[in-house]
Amino acid sequence: MVRLVDIPCFGASTVVWWRKRTWTCSEPSCPVGVFTEQDGQVAKPRAMLTTRACRWATEQVRREHASIAGLARQLGTTWRTVWTSIEPILTVPPPMSPGSPA
Ligand SMILES: [Zn+2]
Repeated sequence: MVRLVDIPCFGASTVVWWRKRTWTCSEPSCPVGVFTEQDGQVAKPRAMLTTRACRWATEQVRREHASIAGLARQLGTTWRTVWTSIEPILTVPPPMSPGSPA
C-alpha cells in the first residue's frame, strides 16, 4: 500500500491509498524476477504526491504565485514534501500556449 497526497477536495486535504500489485516472473532465468506495478498517470515511482497533485501545485505556483507553505497546508503535508515533489517540474519551462509570442 502506497500513501499519496492528492489535490484538496471541497477545501479538505485528501489522501489516496494505492494498493500496488507485485508481479513475479515465472521464467527462472528472468533478470527482473519480481516487480511492482507502476503507473505514471497516478504517481511517479517513489512519489509522495499524485501526478494530479504535482500538476495542481505547479499551476498554483506558476499562475497564482502560491507559497509552498500555503500549498503544504492545503495538501495536508509538509513544506519539504511539496517542494521536493514540484521543484523538478518547476525547473522545466512551461509549454508555450498557442498564440503566445515566440
Ligand atoms: Zn521475466
